[in-house]
Amino acid sequence: MAPSPDNYQSIYNEIAGVSDSAGEGFAEREFKALLLALPKETPAQQRLARQLEQSLKEKNGEDYQKTLVEFITEHSSESELSWSELLADFLRQWEAKQSNLTPARKRESLEHVLASASKNSEIFYTRLQNLVKSWAQNSTDDTVLFDGEIAPLAETPPAEPPAAAPAPVSRASELLPELRSLFAYTLEVVVATQLDDDPELAGQAKTLATAVRGATTLKAMDSLLADVKRFAFRLEFLAEDRAELRAGLLKLLQLMIENVSELVADDHWLNGQIEMVREIVARPLNQRAIRDAESRLKEVIFKQSQLKHSLTVAREALKQMLAGFVDHLSEFADSTSDYHDKIEVCVEKISHAEDIAQLEDVLAEVIRETRVIQINAQRSRDDLRASKQRVEDAERQINELQGELDKASLLVRNDQLTGTLNRRGLEEAFDSEVGRAQRRKSTLCVAMLDIDNFKKLNDSLGHEAGDGALIHLVTVIRETLRPQDTLARFGGEEFVILLPDTQVEDAKKAIVRLQRELTKRIFLHDNEKILITFSAGLTDYRHDDTQASVTKRADEAMYAAKKAGKNRVVTG
Ligand code: GH3
Ligand code: MG
Ligand code: MG
Repeated sequence: MAPSPDNYQSIYNEIAGVSDSAGEGFAEREFKALLLALPKETPAQQRLARQLEQSLKEKNGEDYQKTLVEFITEHSSESELSWSELLADFLRQWEAKQSNLTPARKRESLEHVLASASKNSEIFYTRLQNLVKSWAQNSTDDTVLFDGEIAPLAETPPAEPPAAAPAPVSRASELLPELRSLFAYTLEVVVATQLDDDPELAGQAKTLATAVRGATTLKAMDSLLADVKRFAFRLEFLAEDRAELRAGLLKLLQLMIENVSELVADDHWLNGQIEMVREIVARPLNQRAIRDAESRLKEVIFKQSQLKHSLTVAREALKQMLAGFVDHLSEFADSTSDYHDKIEVCVEKISHAEDIAQLEDVLAEVIRETRVIQINAQRSRDDLRASKQRVEDAERQINELQGELDKASLLVRNDQLTGTLNRRGLEEAFDSEVGRAQRRKSTLCVAMLDIDNFKKLNDSLGHEAGDGALIHLVTVIRETLRPQDTLARFGGEEFVILLPDTQVEDAKKAIVRLQRELTKRIFLHDNEKILITFSAGLTDYRHDDTQASVTKRADEAMYAAKKAGKNRVVTG
């Protein structure tokens, strides 16, 4: 027989008279071997070894198995749970400042822990935990996020003597609620009050503030962090919008100043313009309002330049008339002094006359001279009357022009140049289209068109070419779209089209068709071919929309089309 432990055992059993099957219920040898192999480094492991030894002594296999299973179950779930917490604590402490620890010292301690316990995860866990605790006790960093609920370190007895530094721990945990409320206060008061013009965002800041006050657990803080980030993104967008608004305002002001230098010395215009700017400033500012004012001003400048021209012509005529009258007057004065001289000579002759015949000659001379002066006087009087008449005509013409301008802006519902509806006409048409769409439960689309690079066309070919281009565009629109579609001139070179009973996709097709048609039907000015293109924004009327809100959406989409490179349709 080979001298193996098994053979020795069976020989022993044979000699001792014990049957081989006696120990079958309890594999003592295997259990002992297992016990020897188990680690006994931590107190818990040592405790387990003691319990298993006891079970072995009592040869109680069942107890042995139960102890082992309980230990494994308890420890595996426990360590799974606490690893994430320990790592979170570790990261916080790694980033925090400690009064007497340099980052190099911290790295050194960590390397030490790694080197000494990297093979045994439990030992590694314990040592790392101890290290984190010792760091926490030395923490001076007020921003460290930890209090009782988030990191339960303050309640756990530290592994190393705590005598030296319990104060910073309690300071940090005391500070946390204060920091939370400071953050909430910042959101609620500092941030929210900056958002007067955006009530929705201001509301969000307040909601976040309330959430910050209630976020006492790490989990709550984590989810809040995502909300804070989203909020920060929106703030960033808002800042961009505000910058754009400022740039728009600046442009508007420059235009105003430019225009002031163009002004004729007439208070009526000046007052009108100042009034308009005052109105804009009084309303809450948005990009649309500013661009609206800009296009209105451009129109005013354009119409005013026409009026200014007429006024200059009238004034010139007046000046010429006055000059002519003065000429006549001096002529008259010359002729009257001449007359006086001649009459004096006649008087002389009369005093020396010796007979009737001599007197008759003198009288005839007097009569002749007097007639000449009479004719001169009559001519001067007629000239004066004609001049007066012409001054009155010029004045009437100026008043008519002024009246026409007032009428155009106040009463007329059609644009004088293109014959389309004007702003006022559009307002009425919009109301009736919305009413109809609501009654029929059908869709209503609104498109905003703006001619591309119109200023360039105007500047290079003149206003007449510009006017012709506007008329051409209107003709093409009218002939391409359906009769039930409403076309209105919204401003200088901006048009609004209302497309009743149309889905957005179909409206887009219609506007694209219009763009194609415009490239086919080239505008001719003085036999020169001019390609007109436009950018368009499209949207549909939605429940609770007002004319302003739907126009704003269409305008923003149009603006996006401009930004994307012009000559395209964007839906919004
Ligand atoms: P963009 O492509 O970005 O739209 O540039 P744009 O040049 O078309 O736009 P901008 O708003 O700078 O210029 C519009 C011009 O329209 C300025 C003004 O001289 C001209 N305008 C406004 N009303 C009339 C009008 O009734 N007739 C003519 N001929 N021109 C007008
Ligand atoms: Mg424009
Ligand atoms: Mg334009």
